[in-house]
Amino acid sequence: MASSNTELISTNPATGEEIARVAITSMQELDAAVERAWQAFHHSGWKELLPHKRALVLNKIADGLVAEKESLARLQMADNGKPLGECRGMVESAIGTFRYYAGVCETLETDVTPSRGDYVSFTVLEPFGVIAAITPWNSPIMNDATKVAPALAAGNAVLLKPSEDSPLLGPELARIALAAGLPKDLLQVVQGRGADVGAALVAHPGVRMVSFTGGTTSGRAIARVAGDKLIPTALELGGKSPHVVFADADREHAVAAVVAGIFGSAGQSCVAGSRLFIEERIYDEVLAQVVARAKTIRVAAPDADGVEMGPLASFHHRERVVRFVDRAREEGGRILCGGEVPTGGVFDQGAYYPPTVIDGLGYDAVSCQEEAFGPVLVALPFKDEADLIAKANGTAFGLACGIWTESFKKAWRIGRALEAGSVWINTYKQSVTSTPFGGFKNSGIGREKGIDGMKLYAQVKSMYFGLHEQPLAVAK
Ligand code: NAD
Repeated sequence: MASSNTELISTNPATGEEIARVAITSMQELDAAVERAWQAFHHSGWKELLPHKRALVLNKIADGLVAEKESLARLQMADNGKPLGECRGMVESAIGTFRYYAGVCETLETDVTPSRGDYVSFTVLEPFGVIAAITPWNSPIMNDATKVAPALAAGNAVLLKPSEDSPLLGPELARIALAAGLPKDLLQVVQGRGADVGAALVAHPGVRMVSFTGGTTSGRAIARVAGDKLIPTALELGGKSPHVVFADADREHAVAAVVAGIFGSAGQSCVAGSRLFIEERIYDEVLAQVVARAKTIRVAAPDADGVEMGPLASFHHRERVVRFVDRAREEGGRILCGGEVPTGGVFDQGAYYPPTVIDGLGYDAVSCQEEAFGPVLVALPFKDEADLIAKANGTAFGLACGIWTESFKKAWRIGRALEAGSVWINTYKQSVTSTPFGGFKNSGIGREKGIDGMKLYAQVKSMYFGLHEQPLAVAK
């Protein structure tokens, strides 16, 4: 049964079974939630709590996540179909994020600025008040924590809106936070689709900042509304990241990383290395190795032994991926492996799609420009560094890239030349809470994670303490 105007139906994409129904937040309930968030912001004492005391609560939230690690991982697996091992990793990541921002609370310093008169000048950080955190379906607990932990650390109240396709983890995080001692209503969850509840949340006059992770089209719509309201936004958007293999690369590591970089999470990762650029003289050889490995990937139920790829997160998302591959065919792409919905056994029940590698397309084909957000890799040859840079930078996106070469000078040149927020040299898809993350161009605005990930949720206030011996004159 499909979701209605009043409830979201969460379906396990591995089995097609309904697992939960979640009430959609009405507009009256949204107003009330925003009001409660402001009450909590003003009266709970959270924003006045010294940062090292907030750190205690953040650490207790991390402890609460530790205590429920396995059940949270299994819930996420049921909600979006990722392999259990990956889901466990995502809960670990959420735990690490709360601990990290507890640490930032303990250590963050502000500036005493050079004075130019009879005063002492310095900065302090103030919270915005009520923040909207809007997250996608691909890694719910991890994405929720990436926004909620630093926003709370900075003293704000947060309204979290999970994706309509993965509504189950957000309420668990709010429950655990409350049990850990976070004042009531400081973290609330609103549920519903982006076009109505999400849009109403962003437009709400009581929301003072929006932190969004999701697609570029949605990000643009949110930025328009935020621009009108003159409130800041942090936008983590889509990608079409180039993964580059030079002839002098460590071949074994490069091929393994290319495969992991696109087929991990069944390609449903914003940083998936979805465009493979191979130096022309080794193109056929490396591509054959990538295809051979892709064909051996174990696609299975997310809790099966040795599973490498589970189903896609929903049946309607699989439809999008099917259409994407159909268009690549129409554009003249050669399907080297995958490209058909699998059948038989669990494949008949779930939203499975196989690892798919395509070549024979121009770098400017739509399939090489748009995000599939699925297990689809397009391969392209390049002649030399100039050719690579022009083609790799020739998309609207700029989220991440990978470079495989044994030459550190070449890695430096290419790493600096590619338009990407994260550059991985002889590695791929490393993304940790202590290092800033975000995109160039249409991949986003702002940087999450790292110490600045907390400053994103605070506004700088400059303060001056006068030390004047004489009354101030009207004019100097
Ligand atoms: P989406 O943009 O459709 O939805 C993301 C969230 O935004 C959902 O909660 C949705 O309900 C909400 N939303 C949609 N339109 C809205 C609007 N106009 N106003 C307010 N809220 C709105 O994206 P998705 O399909 O859930 O996720 C896939 C996309 O997310 C991909 O493009 C992927 O690259 C991107 N993504 C980016 C990152 C990153 O950190 N850069 C991480 C994960 C996913």
